[in-house]
Amino acid sequence: MKQIYTHDNIVVLHSAKNILALNDIESFVKNEHTIPNGARHGIENTFLELWIINDQDFSKAAEIIEGQLNNPEPTASWTCIKCDEPNDGSFDFCWKCQSENTGSQKS
Ligand SMILES: [Zn+2]
Repeated sequence: MKQIYTHDNIVVLHSAKNILALNDIESFVKNEHTIPNGARHGIENTFLELWIINDQDFSKAAEIIEGQLNNPEPTASWTCIKCDEPNDGSFDFCWKCQSENTGSQKS
């Protein structure tokens, strides 16, 4: 077992766990309910830990977490050249006039 990720926010940690689960990597959260063996790092510093079950998953898991959580895919917003409407980066077409995103980003 190896520690793959640590965060003080349980929501973030669980989303990391879910992402790993989607990639068939088993993991579990440590320190979720109690601090084992007393305050190892002090009460204020109870970082939650995400551990993977199989060590051979480590590099794959690290890659996934790095890609998904530490460097979320940048979805650059774009401005429609036809109607000048700003669009979210996840849209391929202007939500207003349905023009295709030509890739030109004025913003
Ligand atoms: Zn438009």
